Amino acid sequence: MISLIKVDDLIKSKEVKKSMTKRMVADCRKFPSEKNCDVYMSGSEEHVLEAAVQHAVGSHGHKDTPELRKQIREMMTEETAQV
Ligand SMILES: [Zn+2]
Repeated sequence: MISLIKVDDLIKSKEVKKSMTKRMVADCRKFPSEKNCDVYMSGSEEHVLEAAVQHAVGSHGHKDTPELRKQIREMMTEETAQV
């Protein structure tokens, strides 16, 4: 029973750590663009997605569609280093 509790605690602490440290980045340089745009956004996934959608619509004239959001979500990567 003791070992079971320990494993459970370990999983819980890992989950907490992951949710606190996981940040996503959206790098506009990875998007095909006629402007050579180099906007870089980082934050939690939903906030970056929202900011990237607004940026794509406002700066690149895209339409806010499910396809656009899917594209942005696919090009977002996990931030690896804190600078
Ligand atoms: Zn851009």
